[in-house]
Amino acid sequence: MVQRSPGVGDAARETVIEFDGVVARFANLHAMGPTSLSVRRGEFLAIVGPSGCGKSTLLNMIAGTLKPAEGEVRYKGKVVDALNPDVGYITQKNFCLPWRTVEANIRLPLEFRKYPKADIEKRVTEAIEKVGLKGFEKAYPKQLSGGMLQRVMIARTLAYSPDIYLMDEPFGSLDAQLRLKMHDEVLKLWQETGATFLFVTHDLQEAITLADRVIVFSKRPGRPKLVLDIDLPRPRDVIGIQTDPAFGEYFKQLWAALDVH
Ligand code: ADP
Repeated sequence: MVQRSPGVGDAARETVIEFDGVVARFANLHAMGPTSLSVRRGEFLAIVGPSGCGKSTLLNMIAGTLKPAEGEVRYKGKVVDALNPDVGYITQKNFCLPWRTVEANIRLPLEFRKYPKADIEKRVTEAIEKVGLKGFEKAYPKQLSGGMLQRVMIARTLAYSPDIYLMDEPFGSLDAQLRLKMHDEVLKLWQETGATFLFVTHDLQEAITLADRVIVFSKRPGRPKLVLDIDLPRPRDVIGIQTDPAFGEYFKQLWAALDVH
């Protein structure tokens, strides 16, 4: 298991993702930027901001599905100019193929990446265990609840061990209790994998519970408005942490920066 000690050696950890004066445009629409920010290896970064300010756009640029109109996005020091294979992308949309079972859905990206057959089976079995879907290997998506479908999406991603998890409001459609459960699972996943997480959300409590750092973006064209270090102890108890006095303070600062009318 990877040891996570926030605050210790964080400054020394290398930068994996860099936005350098990045501007996003869609035809005449100035969607985002200029934005400059860097993300450290193994960091849990949450991104919040008003709808349409360019949060998904930012993730798409890391994934290499979108190019900046100005500036550079670098991953491990190199400009992202093609699909980034080190990235796992999880959104609230369920991209499960309805005609494939749970295990066949999880196998999909491994087949696509041409992993050896024996390795595929091992990875699928491990991923299913990790997200608590044991016993549902042969089930079809329509037989699963929303939370279980989201676990399939997570398993499908973790099976190929990405270095970067891009999560775009992944639990937006789940009820409050299930979200807490998923927060606990995401923290465990982050802890165990040592991967870097970028998590877009509109839920400030979710951001504070999970992240090492929260970035608030301004309204469109989105630019970083506040960068807040969340110096709460780890490992985190997703319920207990909300009673920490610092939690409330962070909430107030983020809320003020969000400037909701
Ligand atoms: P957020 O994730 O913060 O809600 P997005 O990054 O999805 O915002 O979008 C930022 C802005 O860019 C929005 O106004 C959106 O309508 C626009 N936009 C996003 N993708 C496209 C696209 N492919 N074509 C045209 N406009 C887009």
